[in-house]
Amino acid sequence: MLGFDFVNNVNSVNKFAAAKIIGLIKKRNRILIGDTTLRDGEQAPGASLNIEQKIKIAKQLELLGVDSVEAGFPTSSKEDFEAVRLIANKIKGPLITALSRCRKDDIETTRKAFKGTRRWGITLFLGTSPILRKHSLNKTKDEVLNVVREAVTLARKYTLSVAFGAEDATRTEEAFLYRVYEEAIDAGAVVIGFPDTVGWLTPFEVKAKIAGIKGNVSNLDKALLAVHFHNDLGLAVANSLAAIESGANIVQCTINGIGERAGNASLEELVMALKTREDYYKVKVNIDSKRLFATSQLVSELTGIAISPNKPIVGQNVFATEAGIHQAALLKERITYEIIKPESVGQNGTKFILGRHSGRHAIRDRLEKLGYRAERVDNSFLFNQIYERFKEIASSRKEVKDEELRVIANEVLGGDAD
Ligand code: MN
Repeated sequence: MLGFDFVNNVNSVNKFAAAKIIGLIKKRNRILIGDTTLRDGEQAPGASLNIEQKIKIAKQLELLGVDSVEAGFPTSSKEDFEAVRLIANKIKGPLITALSRCRKDDIETTRKAFKGTRRWGITLFLGTSPILRKHSLNKTKDEVLNVVREAVTLARKYTLSVAFGAEDATRTEEAFLYRVYEEAIDAGAVVIGFPDTVGWLTPFEVKAKIAGIKGNVSNLDKALLAVHFHNDLGLAVANSLAAIESGANIVQCTINGIGERAGNASLEELVMALKTREDYYKVKVNIDSKRLFATSQLVSELTGIAISPNKPIVGQNVFATEAGIHQAALLKERITYEIIKPESVGQNGTKFILGRHSGRHAIRDRLEKLGYRAERVDNSFLFNQIYERFKEIASSRKEVKDEELRVIANEVLGGDAD
């Protein structure tokens, strides 16, 4: 569908059609998911991936349904160049993009990496904050504007999918930031990026910043607004959601939230917040959420970065419950304590951990699942004996395994499961 397929078509249509598609995406509240697991994610300490591993992840991201994959930074290394080249050749679903500084040689190198690829995107970036202008670039405001214009103009000769990100946008003077964006859009950028490079903002501030951009960048109707948050204060997902509420169109994120320092906004958390609370956010994303768990596992395995058991959506414990009251209610009706179905994100069903907080309902249910006939389990005298022995064991450890419950049941009931 035309309106939902902006990034997939943008290179095959003319500028006029691109403007129309941008308008439709905004009108239909479609949020594009820009994955940067292979670029920012790979910058996580110790996460280095070889080319084969990157291709594996890119294929999985294609199945997952992300709208774009930032495959690397071709100028940064031969390996990055090669990874971008191969991924662009092998992956046909999402738009493949690469990062580039606003320099002629970078842009040319990026173009070479995509040689022979019909559609591809480039994300140009340049520091815009006074801190970076002074200490990193040694450029005046006017010089920065010129560099942006020249870089976008050159990149647009090679591809229509040109994004421009203002590095350290958060700490850039607001009036100057609007000017930079206007310059980039005027030169042909179809996406402008608002990265919180240092992970500084809070959700209310994000809303104000995005509202400022929407209200002050005079030609914003010609471009989509992308955001990129870091998790230094644990706010990357909350900030991304706040940006969406204020009208951002593209969110950049990574699988498992990996990335520089404390990482980026976690794709699985962001997507499930939007899907689970669709009643509130009222936006659409194109992600096949049933593949989230497998994707998370693959990225964890290949990067060697473990997933904490309580990591939302993809952690081992997030669909496990031990509390007796919760277990009893869940056995009757899952909606009582479960806002996300485990199957909807590719996890196995709700796990009932049997431990000292578990109650009779959960033990009875487990015995039946282990094959003990209901009438035997329902004999209250025998059941009480099983339950008392279970409690005794549970009092001294974290979890009682099925095998241990089986041993108790066999002793009390005098025989094996039916
Ligand atoms: Mn980043």
